Amino acid sequence: MAGPFRVKARSASPGIATGPVHLAQQRNLTASSRLQPAWRYDSLAAAIETAIGELEHLSQGADSESRDIIDFQIEVLHDPTIAEATASRMATGENVAFAWVNTLDGYIRELESSEEEQMRARAVDILDIKNRVLGALTGTPAADFPAGSVFVAPDMEPSRFLAHDWSAGGGIVLFNGSAVGHVALLARSRSIPMVVSAGPFTASDGHPIQVDGDSGEIVLQGGGPSIPAVDSQVTVASDRKMDSDDGNVLTADGVQIRLFVNINDPDEIASVDAAGVGGVGLMRSEFAVMSVADAANEERQFAIYRRVLEWAGEKPVTIRMFDIGGDKPLSGLDDLPALSATGPRGIRLLLARPEIARIQARALLRSAVSGTLAVMLPMVTFPSEVEQMRQIFLDQASQLDRRGIPYRMPSIGMMVEVPAAALMLDTFTAADFFSFGTNDLAQYLIASARDGSGFETQDDKARPAVLRLLEQGAKLAAGKPVGICGDMASDPECLPSLLAAGLRHFSVAPARLRAIRSAIVGLNADGTTAAGE
Ligand code: PEP
Ligand code: MG
Repeated sequence: MAGPFRVKARSASPGIATGPVHLAQQRNLTASSRLQPAWRYDSLAAAIETAIGELEHLSQGADSESRDIIDFQIEVLHDPTIAEATASRMATGENVAFAWVNTLDGYIRELESSEEEQMRARAVDILDIKNRVLGALTGTPAADFPAGSVFVAPDMEPSRFLAHDWSAGGGIVLFNGSAVGHVALLARSRSIPMVVSAGPFTASDGHPIQVDGDSGEIVLQGGGPSIPAVDSQVTVASDRKMDSDDGNVLTADGVQIRLFVNINDPDEIASVDAAGVGGVGLMRSEFAVMSVADAANEERQFAIYRRVLEWAGEKPVTIRMFDIGGDKPLSGLDDLPALSATGPRGIRLLLARPEIARIQARALLRSAVSGTLAVMLPMVTFPSEVEQMRQIFLDQASQLDRRGIPYRMPSIGMMVEVPAAALMLDTFTAADFFSFGTNDLAQYLIASARDGSGFETQDDKARPAVLRLLEQGAKLAAGKPVGICGDMASDPECLPSLLAAGLRHFSVAPARLRAIRSAIVGLNADGTTAAGE
């Protein structure tokens, strides 16, 4: 039997995992999901058929009153004028999901403004079928891999990570990848051991492999299963719980620091003790949607945001609008004209396709009633972008007002993750608050890339420039709340400089709460080490 074979890679998420190799096929999202118009129409027809089938199934065994409603819904779905209206929107370049939503929203508005009460009552039935068809349009996610195995591939898409059940353990080994990429970030927040830059090596499906996310080493067993299993979940899980200090931590000289958590997948809240944190400092909403159909689904988004706000109680929850693009592609996105996974990202994409922003804004406005919501805008470069998004919120608020739907206007702030914005922070008068996103800020500052090419942004060499920009930016914030939610906030080594720069609000991955909290109590507010430490 061949002896163990060791490969030195780069650590991206700590912990040790052992399991069988799962050699994954690389998916080419851009090529495979570029849909031809006819195909897209077929996908709508198929989704309508699915919805009809579901309704027919529901109708069996329903009482006569329910059957009347269901029959009406089936009748509407059979009505060719709805499909035709959707198709003509698609012919002008609208994405299939948004064409469907916009067509149905038109009918819903017509019904809602009817003089007759009976007609107005029908609006909710149409809303129901709108969402049912949207659900069917979502499409099938990439095939999952066996629970407990170690995913080995050149790279991994965030949606694949999120669709997998990690409860049985497992790990990730990427030939390329980056420690600051979004999958690495997700792996750290879920405590999944991961290494990147492992270079291509030969491995066989099913053979045992050990991933050491602490040392960055992987060990492959050539023949039989002789690597002892290590339960990687246990060591880090305890890090998620904190003393019930409400998220307030005092520095050694008595200055109050607020600690928040970053949430990627909304299910992560289940493992965080709400009493021990100041709230959510960053919810990456793009990870809660798996396809354009999800992005078009106001009700689905509303339910997700409301759940997080209810979990937080009175504590603030900062939900960032979709930061789609770059290494965060969205299935079905590239059939939107002028957009691709390598095209515009963050707020530029949202403003280029306001139909995405409007739906998200409505879901956010409605959920704001359930707690203390702050909305954060991603990848902002110019003040006009914040002003335009604020206008979208105002317009959607008036629309909800007209329809009598409860909502609350949240505060609207921005990520500071583009160097041009950090340098001009005093000109962003329309932003209510700022949060430094050091992952992208570092990348754009040192001409690197989050896919692992170029310099690694967490290298010590990059740090002084990023810290100087942060320090200057924090001064330009002119009294508005300013925090940090990039990975630098989770690094105790950066803490002295971040405190010295005047930052008092830190949002970190749940698994890093304890480490950051202990580091804060040993420092003075100016970043110097406390006497006796
Ligand atoms: C960042 O860029 O630092 C950030 C928090 O945003 P994301 O990592 O999601 O790009
Ligand atoms: Mg970012």
